Amino acid sequence: MFDKFFFFTRKIAQALGSKTPYTQDQMDKFSEDLKNTFNNNLDKALENNPPIIKDIKKKVITLPIIHNYIPINTYSRCGQKKLATRSIVLHYTGSPGSSAESVQYYFSGLARQVNTKIGTTYASSQLTVGLDGEIIQLMPLDEVAYHTGGYLPPVPANTPAYLTYTDKITSYILSYGNPNYSSIGIEMCINSDWKLTEKTITSTAYLTAYLCQIYRLTPESDLYRHGDITYKECPKPWFDDTSLWVSFQKQVQQYYEEFNFAVAS
Ligand SMILES: [Zn+2]
Repeated sequence: MFDKFFFFTRKIAQALGSKTPYTQDQMDKFSEDLKNTFNNNLDKALENNPPIIKDIKKKVITLPIIHNYIPINTYSRCGQKKLATRSIVLHYTGSPGSSAESVQYYFSGLARQVNTKIGTTYASSQLTVGLDGEIIQLMPLDEVAYHTGGYLPPVPANTPAYLTYTDKITSYILSYGNPNYSSIGIEMCINSDWKLTEKTITSTAYLTAYLCQIYRLTPESDLYRHGDITYKECPKPWFDDTSLWVSFQKQVQQYYEEFNFAVAS
C-alpha cells in the first residue's frame, strides 16, 4: 500500500491535534512548498548525477512512503504514545544487503519470539530507509519505538555499554525519561559492502529535514547517531568515519533551508 509523501504532512498535523501552531491553510501551503522544493531539488540532483538519483526520483516522488505497520505487540510496538518529539535518532541495520522490507519483517517477527533464559529482544523504529531510498513507515510517529533505550541512573551493575547513556546525551532529552519517549528512530539499510548507499543517504536526509520542519526541530542540535545516546557504534559507518556523519548533517541542513516554508513565524 503506497501513500504519497505529502499525505504524511496532513497525518502529522492531525497527530499534533490542537497543539499544532499551523492553521489548515498554512499546512496546505507548507505541503505545496515542500512538494515543489522536493521536486526542484531532485531535478537539480538529476542533472548533476543522473545514474544515482534517477531511481530515487522515481521511487521517492511517486511512492516515497510505504505504510507497512508492525502489529501491536510486546516486543516491537507497544502502542503507547510518546511524550513528545524532540530529537531524531539515526541507526543502521548492521545486516549487510538486507532490504527495508526485511527490517519490517524482522520487527514484526519479534512479536512471535518465545521468552527464553537468555532473554528476549525488544527492537523497532518508526521508519526505515532501504537501499534504493525507499521509505517504510512502521508505526505512527507519535508511538514509542524501541530503538534507543538505556538505563536511567542509578544504572544497574553489569549493564552492557550499549544500554548505558553517553556523556553527549543532554539532560533535556533525559528529562523525558528514556529517549524512546521523545524521539523518532530511522533505521537505515546497509549495503553488502557495509556502506550506506547514496540513495539511502539522500532519502534519509530528505526525510530527516522534513521531520525537522514538521516537528520544529533544529538540524544542528536535534539529530543524533544512536551511538551519541548510548555506547553503541551505530550507524557504524558514521563512527568509522565521522566526516560522513558531518556531511549528512550538512545535507539535512541544506534541504531544511531549501524547504524554506513560507509559514508566518
Ligand atoms: Zn541503532
